[in-house]
Amino acid sequence: MNRVRCLVLNAALGPLDYRVPDGMEVEPGSVVECPLGPRTVIGIVWEAERLPGTEVPAEKLRPLRDVLPVPPLSAPLRRLIEWTADYYVASMAGVARMALSSGGALKGPATMTEYRLTGGMPERLTPQRLAAMEALEGEQANIRELAGLAGVSEGVLRGLVNQGVLEPVEVDCDRPYDEARPDFAHVELSPQQAEASATFAEAVRKGEFAPFLLDGVTGSGKTETYFEPVAEALRMGRQVLVLLPEIALTENFLHRFEERFGAAPVLWHSSLKSTERRRAYRAVASGSAQVVVGARSALFLPFRKLGLIVVDEAHEVSFKQEDGVRYNARDVAVMRAHFEKVPVVLASATPALESLQMAESGIYTKIDLPSRFGGAELPAIDTIDLTQEKPPHGMWLAQRLVDGIEERLARGEQSLLFLNRRGYAPLTLCRNCGFRFQCPNCSAWLVEHRFSRRLACHHCGHETPSPNACPECGEPDCLVACGPGVERIADEVAERLPDARVFVATSDTLNSPGKAAEFIALVGAGEIDVIVGTQLVTKGFHFPELTLVGVVDADLGLEGGDLRAGERTYQQVAQVAGRAGRGSKPGEVLIQTRHPEASVIAALAAGDRDAFYSAETEGRRHAGAPPFGRWAAIIISSEDDAEAREAANRLGAFRPQVDDCQILGPAPAPMALLRGRYRYRFLINSRRSVQLQDVIRGWLRQVDHPPGVRVAVDVDPYSFV
Ligand code: ADP
Ligand code: ZN
Repeated sequence: MNRVRCLVLNAALGPLDYRVPDGMEVEPGSVVECPLGPRTVIGIVWEAERLPGTEVPAEKLRPLRDVLPVPPLSAPLRRLIEWTADYYVASMAGVARMALSSGGALKGPATMTEYRLTGGMPERLTPQRLAAMEALEGEQANIRELAGLAGVSEGVLRGLVNQGVLEPVEVDCDRPYDEARPDFAHVELSPQQAEASATFAEAVRKGEFAPFLLDGVTGSGKTETYFEPVAEALRMGRQVLVLLPEIALTENFLHRFEERFGAAPVLWHSSLKSTERRRAYRAVASGSAQVVVGARSALFLPFRKLGLIVVDEAHEVSFKQEDGVRYNARDVAVMRAHFEKVPVVLASATPALESLQMAESGIYTKIDLPSRFGGAELPAIDTIDLTQEKPPHGMWLAQRLVDGIEERLARGEQSLLFLNRRGYAPLTLCRNCGFRFQCPNCSAWLVEHRFSRRLACHHCGHETPSPNACPECGEPDCLVACGPGVERIADEVAERLPDARVFVATSDTLNSPGKAAEFIALVGAGEIDVIVGTQLVTKGFHFPELTLVGVVDADLGLEGGDLRAGERTYQQVAQVAGRAGRGSKPGEVLIQTRHPEASVIAALAAGDRDAFYSAETEGRRHAGAPPFGRWAAIIISSEDDAEAREAANRLGAFRPQVDDCQILGPAPAPMALLRGRYRYRFLINSRRSVQLQDVIRGWLRQVDHPPGVRVAVDVDPYSFV
């Protein structure tokens, strides 16, 4: 009897059994179309013994409809899906969906029609047509994309097609990518770099699971160092996955990659067009995509012959997914390497405590790059005690910091001011009646954005034009901005140093790879004197003329009850400090704080990383926090407050009693209202010996909830809101 068990992409359903019709060939991993009632759903053939389900009598089995024309998901990927679902208490269907992330790709090979200029002229040359023809010089894309590029309607372009000015071209959706060549350029590594990269390359040749922590100070050349094992994998005909935290800012990385390998890597991130997605997906699955550079979702792509995984800036919180399946890409990357039997390199100048602890206990091999490449010195760091050196009234920068910027201006050097707050001011209130602008959907204040003249919620995206009068008391001109955001700091710099050319660098202004590239070019050409930026500017930038970094408010990150607040502040400040003095000129860092005595700030000022990590380690050990104990959060939410509260209380009544496992809550979550949903939270803290996931699964199974209630489990949470 030819029956198979399938994992269907529907979280509400368990595994389902089907009959394989005569003549159809399937194996575990095959992607198939399964009949379900009157519908068809996509499923993956799975090993029945790994996916327990209820036996259905043979005569009741329905036949599979079809096998989709993509290679079967490999056994290592299937194991990864199982592990991820199990560890993060998620549905296997939800995880599997991440592995089948291009609907188009599943449909098989295809061609599409694109258009390009022929060189011909239209009978009537309107200004619009002329503008379109100028804009489309050298371009080839579908009509919709071309219309976007040219800034005209699709109708205008259709007219040009009819006139023979644009001609159709049939394009293979799966056309191959340019070949990356392992020996395209030779890079002379420093002895330290060479030793590290030889270790990685050896691991690639061996083809075994080998986790590495590449712990190198900022500017030590971690990228050059892991490019060598990338080359080694290419020589062996293996694929490589490089995960980067902020894909919009990969410009500099892509440039270096092309210089080294003679071709661009294959990109994978959420803003790819569906045709690009499909092409990348199919190339990954066929094995022809050699190096994939991607955001965390690239982790579940169906690589055919993976040889190496690199997670760059591995400490970054953006590797943690905060909705859907709540996984940490850094940790899942290590598991993928484990199942694929390949090495994985976690690279960082400020590793997560968890990663350092893994190295300490001998599970990861730690490789150090303790000095900057080319003899550049790490910057000198000093604190400015804001209680002693008060900024002028209504301003935020101490005189010493402004003097520092002025000196750089005089020398033609650049400064960077770091404040992790977008917009102009985090709170707006009415001087007359005390009214505060709050988001209608979230427990959060609206942030004023002066560039765009709007008040915006940074949690749900709600926006409203900035009013002139108070909506509560009607008084005109009585609204005051409280506290600074980057825009306000930029205004202050412009006021105090009128000659400075200031640029605000945030996700608002650098919201596309093009804009990021423009910004990098401007700084590189010396056309910007002062950059004011959020955490976006802490990563990856290399500006040799940047010699002063000012941290506007180092205490900001320490507010709130976040378990990792100290670590995150350390990482952010150390990373932004690492932007200073990367060329031949020495760098200086000034940290503004009200608490220079706080252990994080003191360690930063003393440049004593070990002191910070050992204090933090002791703190975590004491609190039973990761990596010494485990945390998980369960968030119960509903659009109806009473419904959410009742559901949380009902679940609370079934709380399990387990040794070494403490369950706190339910309590309103710190963000009690988020995107229109009321939220209640349980926090679970256990020893490492507890099978936390089993406890949670067993508990959640006992209670059913009305359809409006959502239950989200967050294992190893990063966000405590
Ligand atoms: P990190 O990621 O460790 O902060 P990068 O990889 O960005 O450091 O390297 C810092 C700078 O030094 C970059 O401009 C890089 O091109 C340069 N660099 C590093 N190693 C080498 C090398 N072996 N040869 C030439 N340039 C190098
Ligand atoms: Zn909101």
